[in-house]
Amino acid sequence: METDHQYQPLLTIGAVAKTLQVSEQMVRLYEESGLVLPERTGSNRRMYSLHDLERLQCIRTFIDEHGMTLNGIRRLLSFLPCWEYQGGLDADCEQCAAYYSMAGPCWSQEPVGPKCAEQNCRDCEVYRLPVNCDTLKSIIFQRDPFTRRE
Ligand code: SF4
Repeated sequence: METDHQYQPLLTIGAVAKTLQVSEQMVRLYEESGLVLPERTGSNRRMYSLHDLERLQCIRTFIDEHGMTLNGIRRLLSFLPCWEYQGGLDADCEQCAAYYSMAGPCWSQEPVGPKCAEQNCRDCEVYRLPVNCDTLKSIIFQRDPFTRRE
């Protein structure tokens, strides 16, 4: 069950790298690829939440078990229907790169529309979606994951 605790930036990049069994450089690459948005402290240190860690674990699964590239994962996440969580399709979307672009998730796109411009993506429902290998399809298609079409 998700709690606010899940979104608190508690983990250092070293702890995240150790958990994922990758190098810190690799964790930074995931950020540079726009897949995760670590919090930055006043001294510009990266800090990650448990939710960020779960996102990164999902990315590792996409890579290790599904043979995906970072570019492919970026494109997959670009299909998240962010507008559905921001009041629906409207004129704002016409000004938002995230609506048109397939280059990456909305939080990695610029410029975003007026509704997102003042928001911290880390606090946004879209960034906080429980995206993982099992839920991604149902989130993209806005469907109950257990609903099957006969
Ligand atoms: S605030 Fe950020 S994460 Fe939320 S919909 Fe806008 S761009 Fe995406």
